Amino acid sequence: MIKIAVQKSGRLYEDSLRLLKDCGLYVEDGLDTLKAEVRNFDAEVLFLRNSDIPKYLEDGVADIAILGENVLIEKNVDVAVVEKLGFSKCRLSVALPKGAEFNGAASLEGKKIATSYPHSLQQYLDKNGVNASIHLISGSVEIAPNIGLADAICDLVSSGNTLFKNGLEEKEILLKSEAVLAANYKSLKEKGELIEELAFRIRSVLKARKNKYILFNIPNDKIEEASKILPVLKSPTVLPLVEEGWSSLHSVISDDDFWNIMSKLKACGAQGILVIPIEKMVV
Ligand code: ATP
Ligand code: MG
Repeated sequence: MIKIAVQKSGRLYEDSLRLLKDCGLYVEDGLDTLKAEVRNFDAEVLFLRNSDIPKYLEDGVADIAILGENVLIEKNVDVAVVEKLGFSKCRLSVALPKGAEFNGAASLEGKKIATSYPHSLQQYLDKNGVNASIHLISGSVEIAPNIGLADAICDLVSSGNTLFKNGLEEKEILLKSEAVLAANYKSLKEKGELIEELAFRIRSVLKARKNKYILFNIPNDKIEEASKILPVLKSPTVLPLVEEGWSSLHSVISDDDFWNIMSKLKACGAQGILVIPIEKMVV
């Protein structure tokens, strides 16, 4: 049996449970419990604080976990990152009040910096040979400069809205993070098969989320031209229509190229274009 740690509540909670569900794992809701059975997979889910997960993972209390990569770095633990999961993307940045001078790390010399990520910040300061005092606070770091608690902050940013609202400017990115699937090294050896089975399912789900199934009608003399527009898995499927001289073309396209491909297909004479989400993708 594998023990999977996920965040009990917070930014990662919903996406983590949705991912497990999309992988076919039935997990009881964890809001009031610390532990939930998975009915149809040899696993148990532990609901923990994101910031506590690295230690539990390193100690082997949990075999694998879904957590923000930044907390693995912050807690400096020795675990394996098995898969990047593509959600909760953010960056750890230094921000200063709007208009404050900043010419690189040296500008932080002698300053007071508020953060919830002291280890990551200290590493950055050391790397740049800067002496600054770190003021550790566990939440609402952005208001620290406004109330005179600090000259700068080091915090997680995604859109930058919170910084903006607090009159702060992002000056330097220390690291980038997203949710990851991480594993304890010993568990990887002893329970590798189960972990690989879950990782395989996760890869299939993530891949499917990034792609769309597309089908459209096209005159036969345009099939070759349309095929060239599609970055296909192998080659597109072509089915004849009842209407003489026309075919239906089926393929898979990446979400990133979606609109680009769409306009090229239209220009090529494609009609009745349908785009359908894919649930799982095993290639
Ligand atoms: P705990 O569960 O211990 O309270 P936490 O304070 O890290 O942990 P959240 O604020 O819910 O919990 O953040 C969880 C994770 O989500 C962070 O570690 C980070 O990886 C990511 N995250 C944090 N802030 C943002 C943001 N603004 N945008 C996107 N992802 C973020
Ligand atoms: Mg928190």
